[in-house]
Amino acid sequence: MNKKYRKAIIAGNWKMNLLPSQVKPYAEELRNLMPKSKTCEVALCVPFTHISTLRRSLKDNRIAIGAQDVSLYEKGAYTGEISAEMLADLNVNYVIVGHSECRQYHGDTDIDVGRKAAALLEKGMSPIICVGESLDQRERGLTVDHIRYQVLAAMSSIPEEKVRQCVIAYEPIWAIGTGKTATPEEAQEVCETIRAVIRSKSGARTARSVSILYGGSMNSSNAFELLSMPDIDGGLIGGASLKPSEFSKIIGAVAEVTGEEQK
Ligand code: PEP
Repeated sequence: MNKKYRKAIIAGNWKMNLLPSQVKPYAEELRNLMPKSKTCEVALCVPFTHISTLRRSLKDNRIAIGAQDVSLYEKGAYTGEISAEMLADLNVNYVIVGHSECRQYHGDTDIDVGRKAAALLEKGMSPIICVGESLDQRERGLTVDHIRYQVLAAMSSIPEEKVRQCVIAYEPIWAIGTGKTATPEEAQEVCETIRAVIRSKSGARTARSVSILYGGSMNSSNAFELLSMPDIDGGLIGGASLKPSEFSKIIGAVAEVTGEEQK
């Protein structure tokens, strides 16, 4: 399917790494290293404590601000939680929901993921909705059914007119932080399935405009091959986003795929 209808996005997921005092030097280094691109949106999904410093350190809008989760609740007596409205007030653009680590450690269900995504959309932010199978599910041939179920369950809370503002990240659990990557063909098969699910639910126009990312040990050596696949529009990058030199090479791989001139 033609990639011109959707944004290429490279989003870093810092998880619980780097300190607030490291944000400014990181941002400066990345801004110096990263290729100028008209076709690739770059986002950094940082811990809540780092968002304001990142905003101040970026100076222009070449890098979008992201967070890593959001509360299910709007406001009130939810100690320790961060609402969609709070993130919108900090001008956050993207928020990861349904990361396998949040599903594992916080018990987020597919329905929670859809509700969180809907709360973000309501406040004008784009959710990055993560889906992915375990190794056991892959070995038992359940990958495609599982992903279809996860996407439909999340989508069931999202108003039809907001679907195109969603980003979906396919992150096989067995590939996250393990150094094992899905092959480009394996990742393409699942990303194509995700697009087909959106098409059957929301129509071809919406399906062709939703950006679908691959995540799971993506790095500067495997990014080009993965990003060359027709339904992979970008990457959600964990470990490799912690070093500006490595992250900027992944951003460069998008420019290589699209044939864009690099600086
Ligand atoms: C992630 O946690 O979203 C991720 C893809 O991590 P890594 O790149 O380290 O596998």
